[in-house]
Parts: sequence; structure tokens; C-alpha cells
Amino acid sequence: METAYLEEVNPWEAQLARADLAAKKLGLDEGLWKILREPAHELIVHVPVQMDDRTLESFTGFRVQHSIIRGPSKGGIRYSPNLTLDETRALASWMTWKCAVVDIPFGGAAGGVICDPDRMSKGEIERLTRRYTAELIEVLGPEKDIPGPDVNTNEQIMAWIMDTYSMHVRYTVTAVVTGKPLGLGGSQGRNEATGRGLMIVCDEALRRLSMKRDQTRVIIQGFGNVGSNAARLMHRQGYRIVGVSKSTGGLYNNNGIDIGDLLEYYHRSETFRGFSGAEEVDPAELLFMDCDILIPAAAENQITSRNAERLKARILCEGANGPTTAEADSILAGKRVFIIPDILANSGGVTVSYFEWVQDRQGYFWRETVVNDELERFVRTSFDAVMDYAESRNVDNRIAAYMLAIARVAYTLRLRGIYA
Ligand code: NAD
Repeated sequence: METAYLEEVNPWEAQLARADLAAKKLGLDEGLWKILREPAHELIVHVPVQMDDRTLESFTGFRVQHSIIRGPSKGGIRYSPNLTLDETRALASWMTWKCAVVDIPFGGAAGGVICDPDRMSKGEIERLTRRYTAELIEVLGPEKDIPGPDVNTNEQIMAWIMDTYSMHVRYTVTAVVTGKPLGLGGSQGRNEATGRGLMIVCDEALRRLSMKRDQTRVIIQGFGNVGSNAARLMHRQGYRIVGVSKSTGGLYNNNGIDIGDLLEYYHRSETFRGFSGAEEVDPAELLFMDCDILIPAAAENQITSRNAERLKARILCEGANGPTTAEADSILAGKRVFIIPDILANSGGVTVSYFEWVQDRQGYFWRETVVNDELERFVRTSFDAVMDYAESRNVDNRIAAYMLAIARVAYTLRLRGIYA
């Protein structure tokens, strides 16, 4: 791959391209921006794990705390064979901006381990998780840094993190991690929160564009936590879900897919193959098929300078972190695509993680309707704030979200006594 493209698809560079532009448009003091843009702490660990065949393996893991200015850092743990430090840095910085956009008192972090969980047993994943947590023990804590789930990690892994941390400090600390099972200090509504947040921002976009749910065709890339919950909730509210995909296959039906039927089929057979309610399509092509809303909810760099021209959607609602490169932004602007940027669109997850942390610290747990109502209030308010910023500063939605976030973090830094 040529250097320019490699730089385009480096998530840290993609993040910086937008953040630097937003800081410039804000007229931020150069020194202040130097402080805000770089991660505060970066930790690399090499984690020894005994494998089932009794051989020893060493896995490399990261934890990047991008910012602790507005509160403890918060961010997901990703298990992936392709994880890099730059990707982790990008994820950590997106969390800083996301928490500021939804105005919750967290900074941003991210972490993960280079590993392929599809090729590991449950026991191996547990030993890896516990040892990785032990390596991070000094930097984690409810007042310091709070992990949560991300790609290839789930509530069981969060439970192991909570248990390992608690064993080290010698008492039960539920608030050290979010996305836990309900019986272990988890929150009602957390599992579907990111998908629910996506639906809320889509509802808001429809209102602005005078569109109706039942006439809105939606394609969702990725059928994991984010994608499958968005599909289920949006289908239930009357959206027409015409396409879904996972890495191994895609489905399309212009009349709409019955997501209830698909979920039932998928849970039974663990594949899309053979589902009678839609046609099988190449998952790579699904992004460019006819629809009104496209929700990439899988991975970074799906929409780049090489394919953005082919997008047909009117609205791009970013469920994944960093699905669109900075170069693709300008192409999409030319096509007048209404973008709901990742740091706003997928903020529902961290918002309910915040509620989980609050409930753990209160020792008092909320009903699901309370969680969902509060989530809606936070996400709607943030959506309006970003749109107001875009209109009043005459910038696109993404740069508006970055500007709003950076301005909030800079404001806090000034309050804390760094004057610039
Ligand atoms: P997950 O591991 O549960 O699911 C990922 C899904 O994407 C799987 O269905 C996988 O098959 C699919 N996929 C991967 N590559 C694909 C491809 N090329 N084409 C089609 N499908 C593909 O992960 P998740 O938690 O749903 O996270 C997805 C994205 O959302 C990530 O970018 C993550 O950072 C972001 N995110 C997650 C949360 C959360 O609460 N889980 C919150 C905010 C953002």
C-alpha cells in the first residue's frame, strides 16, 4: 500500500486530522492544544499465559489513557489479532471527545490485547484476561480508569476483570469496570445501549430531514453487540432494515428483513446462510447498496477515499469507531451525506456505562425505564448541541462534534488552573 493510503487508514492519524482542524477552528492556544491532543499515559504490557496444551505464550497488551482532565478515564478493552498501539491511541482519544460530547465526567482510555480469541479456549481467554488485568492493577480503579467491553470482549470478560481487581485490593469493587452481568453490578439496558443510542440519533436526524421511519431503508454492517441491537430496536420501531452483514456474510431484502425472525434463525444456526427472508450478498458490497441510512457497526476504515464515491445513503450513522477516514469526509460532503459522527452516534454505550458506574457507587440500582429515559435525554441533548454548533459555526457535523468536545475539555483544563 502506498504511504498516503497507509496514513489515511491509520486511525490515530484519522483522529488527529479532525481534532487538529477543530482545535484550529476554535482558535485554541497552541500550547493548550499540545496538552490536549497527546495521550496522557501509555502502557505496554507483555502478558504470560499458560495455554491448554501447557505451552507458554506471551501476549502484548496496551492501555492508553488519553485524558483524565474531566474525570477518571473510561474506555473499552479490545481483543484482536490486528490491534496496534496507534489504534488504541485513537480509540482512547475518541473516548475523551465522546464523553465530552455527551457531557459525562470521564476522560478517555482504551486498551486491549493482540490475540485471536476465535482460536483460544474459554480457559485461555480467562487466564489472559486475569493476567492482563493484574499487569494494569496500579492504573485501574473506579476513580482512575474504568474499562468496558469493545470488539471481542463481553460481560463475562468484564466480570473476570472485576473479580481480578477485587482480589488484588481485597474487597469487592464493582465500579472498576462496566458492561458487567446484571448479577454483578451491571446496569439494566447496558447491553443494548449503543444500539439504542444509534436509534435515538437516527430519529433525530429523520426529524430534521423530514423523513419517516416506515419509509426509511436501513443497512447495518456488523451484527455484534452494536449492530444486532440497533437492528432489533430499529426494526421494532418501524424502520425498514433492508440489509445486514457480519464478516462472513451479508443479507439484503429491499422490502425489509424481519429482524425478529433473523435473530431467532441466527441464534439457532449461528450463520446467516440459509435464511429464507433475504438474499445472500457479498458483505463488502452491502455498504454500497440502495438505502437511506447506512450504519457501519463493525470496524474502522470501511469508508475511504477509494470507495466513498459509491455510497448511496442519505444518512451515515457511525455505530463503529472510526469507520470513515478523513479523506472520505470531503467526498461525502460533496455528496451531501448527512453524517452522524461516531463520537456522537455511538455514545449511548458509554452513557449507560456511566449510569452503571454511578449505580455501583450508589449501591442503588435503577429500573430499565429510568436507564432508557435518561439515555434518551443525554443523547438527544448532545445531538441538539452538536447540530447547534454546526449551524452557528458553519462547520460539518463531525467537526462540530469535535469542536464542542475540545471546547469542553479545554474549559475544564482552564478551570483547573492552566491559563491560556
Ligand atoms: P462485536 O465484536 O460484538 O461485533 C462486531 C461485528 O462486526 C461482528 O458481527 C463481525 O462479524 C462484524 N464484522 C467485522 N468485520 C466486518 C466486515 N468487514 N463486514 C461486515 N461485518 C464485519 O463488536 P461491537 O461491540 O458490536 O463493536 C462494533 C464497533 O462498535 C466497534 O468499532 C466498536 O469500537 C464500536 N463500539 C462498540 C460499543 C459497545 O458498546 N460495544 C460502543 C461504542 C462503539
